[in-house]
Amino acid sequence: MSESMLVINTPERCIDCEIGQNYSNIIETCVSCPIAGKSALDGEAESIPDWCPLKLLPEKDTKNHFPDEFEDGYAIGWNACIDEITGDD
Ligand code: SF4
Repeated sequence: MSESMLVINTPERCIDCEIGQNYSNIIETCVSCPIAGKSALDGEAESIPDWCPLKLLPEKDTKNHFPDEFEDGYAIGWNACIDEITGDD
């Protein structure tokens, strides 16, 4: 089976996530995560639960690599890969 990825803005709280479905009521905060197949309640919904399947996208490499045989093209390739994932040019 092949795999796919989805790039979204990283939520600060589960309840703010574009993916989660909010089933909160006056008694409790409840966010159902269709990817994890679990629900975050109260404190978990107000933060990011340990079991959240989101993975942070790596940062672009902005270091000034001195051109040598080992690191030649490393940052360019790394950044091009991130651009390909995010759709940036
Ligand atoms: S568990 Fe993670 S992916 Fe799922 S709704 Fe919460 S923040 Fe979003």
